[in-house]
Amino acid sequence: MSEAATLSEPAKQPLSRLAIVGLGLIGSSIARGARQYGLADTIVAIDQDEGVRERVSALGLADHVTADAAEGVAGADLVILCVPVGAVGIVAAAIQGRMKPGAVLSDVGSVKGAVVAAVAPVLSEGVAFVPGHPVAGTEYSGPDSGFSTLFSGRWCILTPAEDADAAAVATVRQLWEGLGAIVETMSPEHHDLVLAITSHVPHLIAYNIVGTAADLEAVTQSEVIKFSAGGFRDFTRIAASDPTMWRDVFLTNKDAVLEMLGRFNEDLAALARAIRWGDGEALHDLFTRTRAIRRGIVAMGQETAEPDFGRARPQATRKGA
Ligand code: NAP
Repeated sequence: MSEAATLSEPAKQPLSRLAIVGLGLIGSSIARGARQYGLADTIVAIDQDEGVRERVSALGLADHVTADAAEGVAGADLVILCVPVGAVGIVAAAIQGRMKPGAVLSDVGSVKGAVVAAVAPVLSEGVAFVPGHPVAGTEYSGPDSGFSTLFSGRWCILTPAEDADAAAVATVRQLWEGLGAIVETMSPEHHDLVLAITSHVPHLIAYNIVGTAADLEAVTQSEVIKFSAGGFRDFTRIAASDPTMWRDVFLTNKDAVLEMLGRFNEDLAALARAIRWGDGEALHDLFTRTRAIRRGIVAMGQETAEPDFGRARPQATRKGA
């Protein structure tokens, strides 16, 4: 944990003005939670997509809705960028010089090193940047898919610089704790390595296995869908995640993903060898160890032991569906 984060005392008052750029799953969930838990007096929603802005207005998620990022961030105490990782630098450049001095800029990107590198050159004088990543989500996108309890009991990782302003870190921490998240701080590099194995490589594996099934000849493919057992079905849920978001994750966390993928490939080769040589003991040993990991996650309250993983939610809307 950085010293700045340790020394910080969270402010108690709600934000006067919270500006959210990108009202998809994450941005709209923040807006809903901020409103429900009274975390901001005024919420400003900024999105480039006209259809998204119309939905945000219809759902009453914000007090002010605009396409103009430079106008929307003016006067905000906290601006939080909830756009795909590849767009964070573009938006940060568009709002350069438009935030008030003393305001705080944050983000929710799933990759942190690339976001820090993209924002640093365009950060305005007098504005503190405190990068963040809520480790919570679903395979759904768009403003209709958000919900106020998305972050409840979930981790949110902040990756402030060692010399980050303590009050700025406290402001961002206060928002996430107000949304029900448990906040932890670490370096951007460490974040990217950890998330490569816990999130990014699993998504790549899911995209790959579902892609392999999709490329099977027609008859077999229809049987794959018809007889899809729990294992394949769970992969299809992950592989339905937003293509733009995940393209950006792999392009921007290249090194860590490739490193973890190398380890994964070696272990997969060892498993293939165990199957080839009938080494049941090796298989049984691994499957016993992995079961304990699952139980540990459930025991920490990060998952339920229910058959559908407790993920069934009514009326979730997939973007474009
Ligand atoms: P999403 O539902 O697709 O929403 C992204 C929103 O940002 C869309 O409305 C998009 O508009 C808008 N946008 C894109 N570029 C923009 C720009 N230049 N200016 C203004 N708005 C722009 O995505 P999401 O799942 O909320 O993900 C947002 C961020 O959260 C990503 O950085 C992702 O890595 C991170 N994250 C996601 C999850 C998850 O599980 N989904 C979890 C943790 C963190 P268009 O419709 O026009 O593209």
